[in-house]
Amino acid sequence: MNNSKIWLSSPHMGGTEQKYVQQAFDANWVAPLGPNVNGFEQDLETYLGNNVKVAALSAGTAAIHLALILSGVQRDDVVLCQSFTFSASANPIAYQGAIPVFIDSEKETWNMCPVALEEAIQENIANGKKPKAIIVVHLYGMPAKMDEIVAVAKKYDIKLIEDAAEALGSTYKGQKCGTFGDFGILSFNGNKIITTSGGGALVCKTDTDKQRAIFLATQARDEAPHYQHSQIGYNYRMSNIVAGIGRGQMEVLDEHIGLRRANNKMYQEIFATIEGVTVFTEPNTNYFSNHWLSCMVMDEKKAGVTANQIRLALLESNIESRPLWKPMHLQPVFKGTAHYGTNFSETLFQTGLCLPSGSNLTSEDKTRIKVAFENIFNGKQ
Ligand SMILES: *Cc1c(COP(=O)(O)O)cnc(C)c1O
Repeated sequence: MNNSKIWLSSPHMGGTEQKYVQQAFDANWVAPLGPNVNGFEQDLETYLGNNVKVAALSAGTAAIHLALILSGVQRDDVVLCQSFTFSASANPIAYQGAIPVFIDSEKETWNMCPVALEEAIQENIANGKKPKAIIVVHLYGMPAKMDEIVAVAKKYDIKLIEDAAEALGSTYKGQKCGTFGDFGILSFNGNKIITTSGGGALVCKTDTDKQRAIFLATQARDEAPHYQHSQIGYNYRMSNIVAGIGRGQMEVLDEHIGLRRANNKMYQEIFATIEGVTVFTEPNTNYFSNHWLSCMVMDEKKAGVTANQIRLALLESNIESRPLWKPMHLQPVFKGTAHYGTNFSETLFQTGLCLPSGSNLTSEDKTRIKVAFENIFNGKQ
């Protein structure tokens, strides 16, 4: 039997990507601007709807950095950030010399708890430090409780940045993730739901913000025949070559979301009769997850095995899995940072696993996954 590595999430090309890349070569648009960049931005604007304006950038991390700058975040400002996330959500706070304050998750969506968020805002205001921005994340593709989060941000008039790096195509009450906040960010890194090999985008509410983002992303050049600069700029623009990959990927995005959602169903079926294992899925029909990664959490006593034992057993069958993301307030690099809410994210980290979720899993891969789990739980329950 084929025993090649089954990955958590690997690039899945649709077939037309090379056509767009070839066009870029043919026209010699091998630069951080060109028709593919404009075309990819238009595709994303159409896809997301809600009249958003999109700036294509070199990475999702760059998009978060620019969102913070455009939100007016400066040195020593407080930024409230979801703790249960990937480090790229929080690192740009440090790039700005600002102070991250981490907010724990609620149990339904695993994302930012609106109650803990409001508590953090009130305490920081009481201490004379009104937060400058909020970074909410739709982790693993699951939409956060956006009605509540948006309401809190509005109530206190604080800029809302939505990290939708893992959630392109997910919706909350029919509206696409990334379009709720003052800014949204997307990632097209190699492991994301669509990829440009590396890249990201900033989703803006106005064309003015989009143009500001592009200005900052292209070294903040003043209008002049010579190189003139009145402020610090960045080299964050997406190249016309990789934007071509993005245009091809947009053609298969919805199909790939369907495949990822089918993976989630498969895991629900695998664990339907197994005690102590819960497959993470939407709390109700307001939420539509792209199920970028399917995740499970365990009650280890009931299951008879630990998450770590499962991870190692899968590895023996050459199947990748990974603990759920380690919360930011527990990361050595953010030691001593303020943290609000329960420690639910730590429980997730200790008892959960991300499972192979690619839209390119073959039926043979799926059989190998099923058999591996059968062997793991055989005789344990
Ligand atoms: C991948 C990711 C990012 C960063 O995106 P890059 O394009 O890799 O810079 C940010 N936030 C989350 C939640 C991510 O998963």
